[in-house]
Formats: sequence, structure tokens, C-alpha cells
Amino acid sequence: MFENKDKTDISKLGEFGLIDHITSKFELNNETTKVGIGDDAAILSGSQKEQVISTDLYIENVHFDIMYTPLKHLGYKCITASISDICAMNAKPSQVLVSLALSSRYTLEAIEELYLGIHTACTNYKLDLVGGDTSSSKSGLHISVTVIGYADSGKIVKRSGANEGDLLCVTGDLGGAYMGLQMLEREKQVFVEQKDMKPDLEGKDYIVGRQLRPEARVDIIEFFEEKDIHPTSLIDISDGLSSEIFHLCKHSTLGMKVYEDKLPLDQQTYDTAIEFNLPPTTAAMNGGEDYELLFTLTQGEYDKIKTSLDITVIGYCTPAHEGIELITKSGNIVPIEAQGWENFKPKSSKE
Ligand code: ADP
Ligand code: MG
Repeated sequence: MFENKDKTDISKLGEFGLIDHITSKFELNNETTKVGIGDDAAILSGSQKEQVISTDLYIENVHFDIMYTPLKHLGYKCITASISDICAMNAKPSQVLVSLALSSRYTLEAIEELYLGIHTACTNYKLDLVGGDTSSSKSGLHISVTVIGYADSGKIVKRSGANEGDLLCVTGDLGGAYMGLQMLEREKQVFVEQKDMKPDLEGKDYIVGRQLRPEARVDIIEFFEEKDIHPTSLIDISDGLSSEIFHLCKHSTLGMKVYEDKLPLDQQTYDTAIEFNLPPTTAAMNGGEDYELLFTLTQGEYDKIKTSLDITVIGYCTPAHEGIELITKSGNIVPIEAQGWENFKPKSSKE
């Protein structure tokens, strides 16, 4: 569906030529970066803060499908999905390392596109690209992203700090990335069967954007700092709301009540779910890759978030023996299954 027309063989540049070519456009802006790309290792120092570090792998045909993923978006998404884990500790990301293994199918122009996305994400989120590794691969594209971030001492929030009575809050809206994926998979199928068909994604820009080019909620971490908000537990929603709720409950030894009518859904997500004969609640509960934040908050801090249009209270914490339950729109109480999206997607992109 999306094709790259120019075809310069990477072997023309060689490994070092390629590294120089793709990394020369990156600047260093963070104080904690002493030495970036170019030596055997990067040097970071000078921060009194706590350092947090996380790494993620993105494998072709497991995590992404190049047929409908523009490489520019893929580069952007690999960075934003990775820094979301740093946000999920209430920390701010500063440095990234990106390693690639490329099959011979990838041309210089394709890698330039990928790095354009990485560069845009680094600019938008004020990240320094400080290193990586480059290798060939026998099959497809493999990307590894390592992110380093910082938080003031004592500010880090784990999955384990929630207490009974705390409010359960979520940022943004849910299920959009999953419904975007359903649209792209459907159009891919049409294209595979009839090559002259153009993908019809009209009116689906929001959900397709949620799938292909998600944002990380660094803005929410800044909002917490600004308003002196102290979440008691925090996680990012990469595998779907139910799955993340289970993680918070397990690590905090709690139960939860979640209200179906409070789940934040965009109209396009809702309408597309109906079109696909899927209950919109299922998309919100079990769809993955929204990269929103899920957190708990003491009731005493409610006033600090109540005017934010970007934060919704969806439930509260209970003793563990009360279980993890959804209160439906009709008032029924049903147990929440820890489905996560790998059990849910017809063609799994996370394993
Ligand atoms: P080494 O042989 O020591 O692994 P490399 O030649 O792989 O060194 O890397 C040289 C420099 O380029 C290092 O600073 C490394 O971090 C950086 N680098 C290599 N590949 C990438 C990449 N894909 N993205 C960003 N930096 C890279
Ligand atoms: Mg190397």
C-alpha cells in the first residue's frame, strides 16, 4: 500500500558510512549528555536525579507490518512507545539509543525515512540520540530502543503504591489504536485480494493516527509536576486497560471497581467498533497501544485533576478480596478478565 520508490543499496555506503549519514542530523541538547554518538560508548553524568532506563524491541511482522506502516511513522512510534515506559515511572525521558538490524530489502531511502521519524520524535520530546548499533539481518527489520530518563529523588511512582479508596484515573481516550489497526488490517486484506484498490481510510484519520503515530504522555508528567500531584501508582497502557489494571492490582495487592460509563472513548473509535461488530467497551478494555497513562490518586488530590479535560476518573481501589470488577452501564457487576491484546487481536502484533 505504501511504497518506497528510490532504491540506493546500503552496501554503497557501508556500515560506517550509513551510521554517519543517518546520525549527522542529530543534535545534543540535554545537560546530562556529555558525549553522544562517535566514541565506543556515550557518557552521561551530572544529574542529582534518579536515573530510569528501559528498553523495547520492535520486530517486523511481529510488532509492525511494513505494508501499511510508513517508515517515518514507524521511527516516530518506536521512540514514543519506548519513552512511554519512562513516563510510566513519573520520570522524563532524556536520552535514547537505537539499534537496527536490516535485511537487504531496505534501501538507503527507506532508512532515511525511518530516521526522519526518529529525528522528529527526538525534536518533539527533546531527546538526545546518544548511540546504537547497526547490523544486517537475514529477515526483515529489527529495531531496539533504549531510553534513559530522570526523576527528582522521591518522585518515582511504581505499580505498587496504590491504597484502598484511591481513585483510578486514565488519560486521553482508549481503544483508538486498536480500532485503527482493525481498519488497516481490513484495507490490507482488500489490497492483497485486489491490487488496484486504493485503501479507503476516509473518516478514520484519528484512529489510524492513534495506531501509526501515537504520542507519549510526557505532558501529563509535566502536569503532575506543575500541580504537585503525587499518583500512588502508575503504569502506561500498552497492552490494554484490563491488562494494566491487573498489573496495578497485583503489585498493590488490591481489587478495583471500574465504571463502564466512565470509560473515555472517542466518537470515531465508538463508531468503528460498531462497524466491526465489536462492543466499544471491549475495544477500550482490551485494545492495546494507546500509550495513555493509568494511575491511582488519593481522594484528597481529586481537586487538582478535576478540571483537566485529559484525565478521567474511571473507578476506585477496593480490598483485594472484592476482586477486579466492571460495573456495566445497566448496573450489572462483571469480573474483568486480564485479556490484554495478544489474546484479542486476530493477528497478534505483540507476543
Ligand atoms: P562499535 O564497533 O564500537 O559497536 P559502531 O561502529 O557500531 O561502534 O558505532 C559507532 C558509533 O555510532 C557509536 O557511538 C554508536 O553508538 C553509534 N551508532 C551505531 N549505530 C547507530 C545507530 N543505528 N543509531 C545511532 N547511533 C549508532
Ligand atoms: Mg556497534
